[in-house]
Amino acid sequence: MKVIQALSAAVPDPISSVSDFRFRRPLERIREWEGEIVLASELQKEMPGFNAYKGIYKPALSTHALWIRQTNRGVYPDSDPVFYPDGSWTYRYSVESQHGKLDESLATYKGLLQCMKDGTPVGVFRQTADVSGKTAYRVLGLGIVEETTGKQFIIRGEPINETSKPLSEGVVAPFKPFEFSPTPVEEVVRKLRERRFTSIIRELYHEKCSLCEVGYRMHGRPLALDAAHVIPVKEKGVIADLRNGLLLCSNHHALFDGYAWTFDKDYRVLVTEDREFRQSAMANHLLGWEDKRLPNLPSSQTNYPATEAIEWRLSEFRERQ
Ligand SMILES: [Zn+2]
Repeated sequence: MKVIQALSAAVPDPISSVSDFRFRRPLERIREWEGEIVLASELQKEMPGFNAYKGIYKPALSTHALWIRQTNRGVYPDSDPVFYPDGSWTYRYSVESQHGKLDESLATYKGLLQCMKDGTPVGVFRQTADVSGKTAYRVLGLGIVEETTGKQFIIRGEPINETSKPLSEGVVAPFKPFEFSPTPVEEVVRKLRERRFTSIIRELYHEKCSLCEVGYRMHGRPLALDAAHVIPVKEKGVIADLRNGLLLCSNHHALFDGYAWTFDKDYRVLVTEDREFRQSAMANHLLGWEDKRLPNLPSSQTNYPATEAIEWRLSEFRERQ
């Protein structure tokens, strides 16, 4: 398996600060799993401590915590992670506390505080609904412990855009429609970006097509749902920015890519005037959405497809009329 060495030339890989291979390898594995739903039985095989510990895990031989695991039956329910348009996320992990205060004498908390001090990444696992009757976790990915409020640790997903450092919580990065990379992006970095884009787009669009709202599922996983780019990757459209994306079923994705339809900056559906298409599409529901607003969009407007990307698409669409 290929080891991800660095996120980009501009961002030193935080994993490289972990000198002990026994802990570095699991962190690399968590990064490879980012966004995926993994069975607990698989995690027990590959993740140190997973079959014995819940909450925060700090290996006895390390001064740093290695991972955090949120179970559905946790005493202190956590909140859902917040995703930012640039693909990063924040996750607030509630800790067991005494009299409402964090007990800093516990080795696990010390391990997490040490991560915060040294910028050492920590893995985050959250239990999901069972997959075919088996316990499963969503691997949120690697994060940096940014701060502690006394009751919660605030963990920030590691950055994958060249714009290096994650922005402060609540700050939205300006939308840059095209990939700009002064240095060629490593293949592994590109894959990581695509994976993050796919998993977050799925979540933002409630695992349903933005147009027809179909959300196929089988064996506990989504099926025939694609995270589509508004400005295609082959046109150098930005890969990991959520505002260059939307979730479509495979059918509507193919028709979108074929410029049979698009949407305007008010998210209203436009269908090609091509008569042959319109006749051949009679049996398809696509025509029924014409002039209507896309029914399934993210809960937060900051994550909607960006106007610049929509306009690029519209002009390509018009050229093909
Ligand atoms: Zn659809």
